[in-house]
Amino acid sequence: MKSSKRYLGVLADMDGTMNRGDQLIPGAGEVYEDLIQRGIRWLFLSNNATALPRDLAARIRNLGIPASDDQVVNSALALIRALKKEQPAARVMVVGEPALARGILDAGIAVANGADQTDIVVAAMDRGFNYEKLKNAQAAIRGGALFWATNTDAFLPVANGVLPGAGSIVAAISVAAGRGPDRVFGKPSPEMAYMALDLLELPAESCLVVGDRIDTDMGCARNAGIDFALVLTGATSEEDLNKLDPMPAYVFESISELKILFD
Ligand SMILES: [Mg+2]
Repeated sequence: MKSSKRYLGVLADMDGTMNRGDQLIPGAGEVYEDLIQRGIRWLFLSNNATALPRDLAARIRNLGIPASDDQVVNSALALIRALKKEQPAARVMVVGEPALARGILDAGIAVANGADQTDIVVAAMDRGFNYEKLKNAQAAIRGGALFWATNTDAFLPVANGVLPGAGSIVAAISVAAGRGPDRVFGKPSPEMAYMALDLLELPAESCLVVGDRIDTDMGCARNAGIDFALVLTGATSEEDLNKLDPMPAYVFESISELKILFD
């Protein structure tokens, strides 16, 4: 195992890592509080763009972890930050849920009035997705608008199976428009991790990404040049590890073992 004294920041996935639905993973709260007490800086990274960071923070607090609103980075926040920094005058068509549209408006970004007035189509998880929205997104992108996606998760795990995720909607728009998104903000893209490093004011070498998924969490960590700790409390089983190349820097039964790296 590598020397662990250098980690100063933790970028933790939520579902499958901290919690399963509304159940906290045993020991997750204790390891969080222990590391915070030792001065470790901790952010939560979520692909979920159906809620704003403050709503996700409230969910974490409801699980019993005293996180503040600004400890959550989600794909919506990363996308909105990029709009503000790089495209402040853009008119945006939102194919997404009300929280995302509200976040974009609150950032002072204009919502487009029709496909021919659209500079950027933003696609996300949208449980109100329909043919009309698909048609408008197609017209805007074929008419020259940029195409940004919060994330491309194919499905969303729920208690009794899976639901179509943002990636299913992004795929529908991609087929209709004849091309894929110009930019994706959720994991495995490094965009959220870069934003997290900025917020923590720490270099990549001082941080550790912790998550339960190889494709998204480990992908994001690798793309951002950050070490990765896999936990086996979610989407990845011990058997899955046999096929992995390269392996994660660390593999833990659960996030409660994370404290080994800081002792
Ligand atoms: Mg997860």
